[in-house]
Amino acid sequence: MQKRCACGGTMPMKLRTVIYSNKVEIDNVPIYSCPSCNRSEVFPEVKPDLTGLIGKLGAQPAKQTFLFNEWNEWAKLLVEAHHDKKKSDPALVRRMTEERIDMLLDLLSVAKAAGDEEWMADIHKRLSQLSRGMLQ
Ligand SMILES: [Zn+2]
Repeated sequence: MQKRCACGGTMPMKLRTVIYSNKVEIDNVPIYSCPSCNRSEVFPEVKPDLTGLIGKLGAQPAKQTFLFNEWNEWAKLLVEAHHDKKKSDPALVRRMTEERIDMLLDLLSVAKAAGDEEWMADIHKRLSQLSRGMLQ
């Protein structure tokens, strides 16, 4: 899980804490960072959710902490892969992604059977977060 930086160096991905407005801490945000020039870039698959979360906080947020892995399926998988200490293995992340998608599809059929539309919408959101990354 790394990409090439504009300066020519490699940017490994790390889970970082993003601080918004000096008040809100968002933990476990996947970010690529370049050790040579200090450039950093939010993992593209999680960007829409990070922007969405910050948008919800508004301009004058209260002091609080979020775990980004509770908001975004990619961050969740990456945190789990990180705990397995194999975070640099793209094959593992891919396998975990596939397993997670299978699990969500199972849950979706349970939610459908229960007629729980709110739950179904939540599962759809999580599935679309994951498929954004799979399509690339
Ligand atoms: Zn660089």
